[in-house]
Amino acid sequence: MNLVFEQIRVGGDRNFGYLLGDRASKQAVLIDPSYSPEVLVQRAVEQGLTVTHIINTHGHQDHINGNTKAVALTKAPIAAHPDCPSMPDILLKDNSEMQVGALTLQFLYTPGHIDDHLVVFVKQHALLVTGDLLFVGNVGGTHSDEDARTEWDSLQRVLKSFPEHTTIWPGHDYGVRPVSTLALEKISNPFLLCANVDEFLRLKNDWAVYKKQMGLK
Ligand SMILES: [Zn+2]
Repeated sequence: MNLVFEQIRVGGDRNFGYLLGDRASKQAVLIDPSYSPEVLVQRAVEQGLTVTHIINTHGHQDHINGNTKAVALTKAPIAAHPDCPSMPDILLKDNSEMQVGALTLQFLYTPGHIDDHLVVFVKQHALLVTGDLLFVGNVGGTHSDEDARTEWDSLQRVLKSFPEHTTIWPGHDYGVRPVSTLALEKISNPFLLCANVDEFLRLKNDWAVYKKQMGLK
């Protein structure tokens, strides 16, 4: 098995950072190495991997606040959406691809939670890092109905673009488990069970009440 994939609790609000690498080529990337980037860098070093890129799913501080330290430790360039405030060296647009050894990373532009949001799909392993678009049992917060509509479109696109057995790896540990699959979320995530965007907007607006009714935390 040449895949290296580690989900690491970095701190913050139950934030997850990810180490993704290919043992054969000894190349790896860090995804959202915030709060404690040194932990991810150390894991790469321990496995003999060279970090080639630091990737941000989106520009919120709790996802990019480790960039400076991560760059200092690895000398790797930052890769993110052109609008990301992390001032990326490598601009990732919709359907951009990046090679990490034998791994092909595909980026899908998924605005809504914020305008510069991307999800990262690893083609060979049907593995999807969802940032703050899709959590286990929840979706990313939005600031207006317009943003929520955009997020709905992004979610529908993700569901259409990737196979059902795709595992999803979120930016925060907000769910009943730290990982899920698209198939499981489709039948259990209340936001993906909405029949249409209006129902989605209603659930977002009524979420506090819904959570209480369902005994969710
Ligand atoms: Zn966010």
